[in-house]
Amino acid sequence: MTTRVALIAHDMKKDDIVTLTGEFVDTLAQCSLVATGTTGGRIAAAHGLEVERKLSGPHGGDLQIGAELAEGRVNIVIFLRDPMTPQPHEPDINALVRACDVHNVPCATNIATARMILDDLRLCFSRAS
Ligand code: PGA
Repeated sequence: MTTRVALIAHDMKKDDIVTLTGEFVDTLAQCSLVATGTTGGRIAAAHGLEVERKLSGPHGGDLQIGAELAEGRVNIVIFLRDPMTPQPHEPDINALVRACDVHNVPCATNIATARMILDDLRLCFSRAS
């Protein structure tokens, strides 16, 4: 089964997620990727990865990803949140992170954790090949 990875970054974190996904482009190319609208656009444009783009976060993209996750279709969430800026869709953000906890799905909300998860995924893929 293909690993499905959700990628989301708030505006102040978008450069960070582009850098991060660039570091793991070979690993992510072996995954099925889903992202909120703007984040997905940035990652696809920067690295040529195929990314299914949901709505933008403030328009419900986090909820769309949360719904997929609740149905068991998302394996990993990389969600680079901006802890310094209030977000209009805070309830949606909390709902997605809560859904990760309810369904025991790994969820990285900062780069250090994201790197650990993606390092592990890269190792899993290299062992399997
Ligand atoms: P965006 O949404 O990728 O469309 O900017 C992310 C968010 O703000 O949750």
